[in-house]
Amino acid sequence: MTSIIDTIKSKVDIVEEVGQVVVLQKSGKSLKGSCPFHNERTPSFFVFPETQTWRCFGCNEGGDIFSFVQKQQGLEFKETLAYLAQKAGVSVEGHAGRSSEEEREASAIKERLRKLNEDAQLWFHQALLRSKEAAAAREYVQSRGISLDSVISFGLGYAPDQWDSLSHYLLDQGYTEQELVIGGLARERESTGSIVSREGSVYDYFRNRIIFPIRDLRGRLIGFGGRAMGEGKPKYLNSPQTALFEKHSVLYAIDMARDAIKLAKQVVIVEGYVDAIIAHQYGTKQTVACIGSAITEKHIQQLKKLTKQVTLALDPDAAGSAATEHGIQEALKTFDRTVIPVPLSNGVSPGRKPQPRGMIRLEEQVDAEINVLQLPIGEDPDELIRRDFEAWLYAVTHPLALIDYYFAVKTADLDLKAPMGKTVAAKRLLPVIGMITSRIKRDAYMRKLATMISIDERSLYAELQRVLLDQKAIGVTAVFSASSGQKVQARKQVKAQDEPEWARDPQGEETITSAGPKVPEERLDRSRNDKIQWEDYLIGLLLQNPELSLHVCDIINDGDFAGTDTRELYRILNSVYQRGSSPLPQSIERIVPSALLATVARAQECVGSNSQKDGTALVKEAVQCAMRLKRTRLLQLNTELKYLLHEAEEIADVASCKKLRSQLFAIQRQIRTIDTVTHLQG
Ligand SMILES: [Zn+2]
Repeated sequence: MTSIIDTIKSKVDIVEEVGQVVVLQKSGKSLKGSCPFHNERTPSFFVFPETQTWRCFGCNEGGDIFSFVQKQQGLEFKETLAYLAQKAGVSVEGHAGRSSEEEREASAIKERLRKLNEDAQLWFHQALLRSKEAAAAREYVQSRGISLDSVISFGLGYAPDQWDSLSHYLLDQGYTEQELVIGGLARERESTGSIVSREGSVYDYFRNRIIFPIRDLRGRLIGFGGRAMGEGKPKYLNSPQTALFEKHSVLYAIDMARDAIKLAKQVVIVEGYVDAIIAHQYGTKQTVACIGSAITEKHIQQLKKLTKQVTLALDPDAAGSAATEHGIQEALKTFDRTVIPVPLSNGVSPGRKPQPRGMIRLEEQVDAEINVLQLPIGEDPDELIRRDFEAWLYAVTHPLALIDYYFAVKTADLDLKAPMGKTVAAKRLLPVIGMITSRIKRDAYMRKLATMISIDERSLYAELQRVLLDQKAIGVTAVFSASSGQKVQARKQVKAQDEPEWARDPQGEETITSAGPKVPEERLDRSRNDKIQWEDYLIGLLLQNPELSLHVCDIINDGDFAGTDTRELYRILNSVYQRGSSPLPQSIERIVPSALLATVARAQECVGSNSQKDGTALVKEAVQCAMRLKRTRLLQLNTELKYLLHEAEEIADVASCKKLRSQLFAIQRQIRTIDTVTHLQG
């Protein structure tokens, strides 16, 4: 049985699809062009028609037609499926299976709510532009410096100071009271028995407020924000949670900012509606506002499809507050991570000869740059923009690296000349420094701290080492505790210098082929080697044991899956688990698009009944699976790179050869690290 994904892939050519946005040139068996996801002068973006895959060797992104469309258009999986199904001329419903009926129903409800929202928005908008009552509101808008153009392009509106004028209007348009309530535009009146209003049983949710329509990434209206005129409480009121409006994921102006974010390769996050509007009005359109809550995982999930550089425009008064810090942690947590192998040694202490410790650590690096835009004390973004746009623009283009920001904030209240102040500063900053994976950077910040508190660098390093030992939580640490034969080999491989021995061995290149080196045969009782099977198996394990997610998310990310369906399932499962809702909601059908339910069944079948296995055995299996997937992906890269290198050599393109060789080298290094770890854990 072919799945809809396979059907689509067989009907829509990746070359054609990518060709719509990237100018592709034939280059041997592949096609080459400038990457649409990062800025580059020499093309390093390739499409491989044979495998129907794409890869950028500049930003290390890659995948199939689904991941390309998802990333390029910023779509969810379901939306991508719908988009590509239409192109392929196949019906999603026909393939959908069990819950398609429910899905259709849910999407019909959403459609109706959208229309309701649009009708309400027009009404609010007309009220602001024309109604006599809105005079004060118009005055307010003007006083905040919002131009008429912005009023129109952002569709600002006004909710009059009346109990049910909008409800009246909408009921006249044929909506029901119930629809108004579930759409978040009206509330039910509490029935007090005798005084039942003749006007009906609902009243307007927004009253005497400036209305800011909120749209999603694709520009679809999902809800409203309302700012009170006068002394109304609360000052800001947002739509309640509805089928469309999910409080913790709202990014105001994301629809208007989308293209600018891609272009500027940066998103600026401000805190208020007006801040965002004014930022757009003056030309910094890569700005969105994070409304009413700290930055959450859901915000970052949306943004990371567009850019890897997140600039937070923090209210200086709130800077360093727990909420801000939480937002930053959230951002750090949610961005994709790149796993890099780091041989461990005692090398943190300079001047002392490093001793072999026989450990390798797979460290994670956040695959994003989070920085902080500094505002003058006491000034909001919109005020600064209006007063001195140049200063704002400078701040936007010269944000402070997160670590520097921490240095400033965490020591602001300390007397760094006093012994107490010094101790506290070191205590607060060393864990932050410990999070830096680049040794060069880490050393630079150690120097900075040492200078700041005038303390000998060496004693600080001793302290840092203690901190690092406490940070076991990050990364996978493989202790070389195997029997002697393996130990010798392991020691040899990670000679615990700064560079492992094999890293200096250029001959090593040729020893890795896509056939793979001799890894001890899998200990999992599976005979089939097919990579898709392994993906199914891992998904099956995760479905059965949610907590395993914690053990594999350090090793792989969704990009390591070759299957479109398994990749999306992994993404879904991982985000469910990461959100802390460990046991899956009873029905997996509710969170998985129906097109993927067949894959769910396949994965469950693949694992069979594993329940008799104990926790440790399961973790081991999951980690092994993850390592295999990672390795398979790296081997694929290895093959692609070799092929490209071969072509570059043929046309004597020296610059490309050099670049490709070093990339090939890095990949092979990672493969060996994984092999070493697998050996030892095996
Ligand atoms: Zn790229």
